Parts: sequence; C-alpha cells; structure tokens
Amino acid sequence: MDFDESLRWDRRHLIHPYTSMTAPLPAYLVRNASGCRLYLQDGTELVDGMSSWWAAIHGYNHPVLNEAVSAQIQQMSHVMFGGLTHMPAIELGRQLLQICPSGLSKIFFCDSGSVAVEAAIKMALQYWQARSRPDKHRMISLRQAYHGDTFAAMSVCDPVTGMHSLFSGTLKQQLFAPAPDCRFDEICLSEHLAETVHLFESHHTEIAALIVEPIVQGAGGMRFYSPAYLQQLRRLCDEFGVLMIVDEIATGFGRTGKLFACEHAGISPDIMCLGKALTGGYMTLAATLTNDTVADTIGGAGLPFMHGPTFMANPLACATACASVELLLNSPWQQRVANIQQTLTEQLFVCRRSPAVADVRVLGAIGVVEMKKAVDMCWVQQRFVELGVWIRPFGRLIYLMPPFIISKAELYRLTAAVISVVREIENQEARNPGC
Ligand SMILES: *Cc1c(COP(=O)(O)O)cnc(C)c1O
Repeated sequence: MDFDESLRWDRRHLIHPYTSMTAPLPAYLVRNASGCRLYLQDGTELVDGMSSWWAAIHGYNHPVLNEAVSAQIQQMSHVMFGGLTHMPAIELGRQLLQICPSGLSKIFFCDSGSVAVEAAIKMALQYWQARSRPDKHRMISLRQAYHGDTFAAMSVCDPVTGMHSLFSGTLKQQLFAPAPDCRFDEICLSEHLAETVHLFESHHTEIAALIVEPIVQGAGGMRFYSPAYLQQLRRLCDEFGVLMIVDEIATGFGRTGKLFACEHAGISPDIMCLGKALTGGYMTLAATLTNDTVADTIGGAGLPFMHGPTFMANPLACATACASVELLLNSPWQQRVANIQQTLTEQLFVCRRSPAVADVRVLGAIGVVEMKKAVDMCWVQQRFVELGVWIRPFGRLIYLMPPFIISKAELYRLTAAVISVVREIENQEARNPGC
C-alpha cells in the first residue's frame, strides 16, 4: 500500500477520537517526531503546539527516555503485578511520594487517566463503606469539568459537554457545583462559592467525595481559576466530612508553573490522580495516590482495594516514567515554563483586540484563545498545517501547550500561526477548499 492508500484504509477502518466513524475529519500521516517537531510522511515539518495532549513535556524521541526504554526492555517488558513486584515500580513510587503533596503515602499504578479516576472514585466509595456509611455514595463535581471517558469518569464530567443525555440511563446521577468564576489572579469572594456551600450543606450526608481539576479546568473549557477557590473547596470538604479527589492528570509535572497545581493553593488532597505527562508522553501509565487515613480505613474493614488491571504497574512504562520525572527535576523546568508563559502572554494578547475573540488567557505553559464561535475544524487544521504548526483546536478554543523544551523561535512560529488564523477568521477568510 502506498501512503495515499494507507490513509484511505485508515479512514475506512480506524476510529479516531471524537470524529465520525464513517465520515471522519482528515488525519495526517506522521512519519516520525523529534524534539518539538512532527514530520509528516510527505516531508512536511510541523512545530508541535500540543505536547500530544499535555504529555510530551520533553519533546519527542528524547535520547534519555529512549535509553530508559531500551535498558528496561532488555530486562523485561512486563510481568503481572499480582504477587510480583519490580524495581521500576518501587523506584517510581519512591520518586512520586517525594514530590507529591504531603500526606499521600499509597500508590495504585494503572493504565490510563480515566482508569485512575475510576480507581479514585472506587477508593472513596470503599472508604465510606468501610466506615459503615454506604449512604455516602455520590460524587460532587464542577460544571465544565473533564475527568475522562469511562463511565464513572464521564458521570463527573460537565453534564452538558460530557454528553450525559446520550448515556442518561447508564450514568450515575452526580451533583454539580457551578464552574469557578473567579479567574486565576482574581480575588475569590464568598458569593463565588455560595451555591457550592449550599450543595454541601444540603447533600453532605450522601456525598462520598468532591472531584476537581486543580486550578485548570482542561478539556471541559480550558479555564483557569483562583487558588483561593481551591482552598475553599478543601475547607468545605473538611467541614462537611467529604473526601477530596484532585485530578492532576493534565496539570501534573509542571504545566501550570508548579510541579503540581495543588501547590498554587498549598493544599493536599485525600486522593490524587496522575497520568498524561507521567511518562513524558512515551506510553500510557497513570496513578491514583491516597493517604494513610483512607488506606487504613479501607484496610481496617478487612477488604482489599477491589481493582487490578492486567497491565498494572507495567515495568516498561514505570522505568520510562522514572527517567522522565528525573529528567524534569534535573532540568530548569520552572524557568522554561516561566519563559513560555511570558512569550505566550506577549504574543497572544494582541488577539484580544479581535472582534472574533471572546477571551485570551495564559497560565504557565498553557495559552488559550477563546473565539466567540466554534472554529471550522477541517479548515483550521489544514490552515495550521500549511503554516507549519501542529495545533488542534476544539469548539471555540484555540490553545497551545508546547513541550517545555521548545525554543523561542519555535514558540514564535506557533503564536504567529494562531494570530494569522484568528485574523483570517475575523476577516471571514475561513473557507475550506479541501474539506
Ligand atoms: C485526559 C484527562 C483524563 C483522562 O485521561 P485518559 O488517559 O485520556 O483516560 C482525566 N482527567 C483529566 C483532567 C484529563 O485531562
């Protein structure tokens, strides 16, 4: 098969995320990737603005991570975790407990972010069962939240954008507090939380846990909110006897300027989820962490934690994650993220003047241009590729979250492409010749 035929075969038989099974949006064939560049099969070179969805913080094809994979594969790629253990899992566990918010002491390694969220919810439910409070079985989440695509995770995603109506018969009915409306650098007033407080007051006897993305609501709207808001949520959980699950799957490992976004607020959760950048974008691995209180309570009731994926703590993924975390900690990542934040702010804020733009916001290595109308995906994707960048908007959001190692020149190429596309949308040049 030549490449055109291969692409046609892909269109017919491979399902891509969130696009039609029969008439999907075009996909571009990637030959290889290195540093902050993706190389398409036809030779086109693209600067990567996405880090493959928050994951590839060190860029692609990194010699240190490549070496970690080859060294581990010579030993073993996988062994079951039931009754067996191995140094990659132990070393990664030790590393994570040293850098994670204080109090976390137990780690459950699993396959993907959504599974880590399932495990977190299950831990919260088992905790209350162990305390003979099976009536505490609901979750409270925030509107505009995103926590993954499996069923329990979907039940705590925003009820509108999370497609609850499509699965209404199957999804557990959870409680939803309003999305935070105090921005990252705004003062958070008590009226910002009034409705949330009311929900806690009237429902705490049935709430097992609050689940929240700290500081950045990611795929549900790319919104940044005040650390004081997160502190207030921690306080409410303590006051009303509700566990706090913090989903750091997108924000973990430096993306917001702190190693974990919880640190902006100086809080520690009862349960925390990690994923995405854990292996530096090399392979799928996630983790659910908890503290002694939760673990001792579940353990004290004489029941194991009821979850055990086949590929739990996969040694190849754990070894890669160890290398990635070490690489991050030994790099000037704070300076790099601060530099990215500065350039994104300097460059993207000109878009605020465009009548087509609703808002521009930047936090750490995340830059968001929120348009007033949904962008035409087929057109915009093709246009960005013509401009030599890999940027994948969704809905009304055009956003950048580049690898931390991106050079200034590469970052300028990304921001210049965003500025051009915004201008073209404003001038209604957004037509799609090939779509
Ligand atoms: C991506 C994401 C998930 C789901 O992770 P997957 O690995 O895609 O299953 C959950 N929570 C947040 C905040 C995420 O960004």
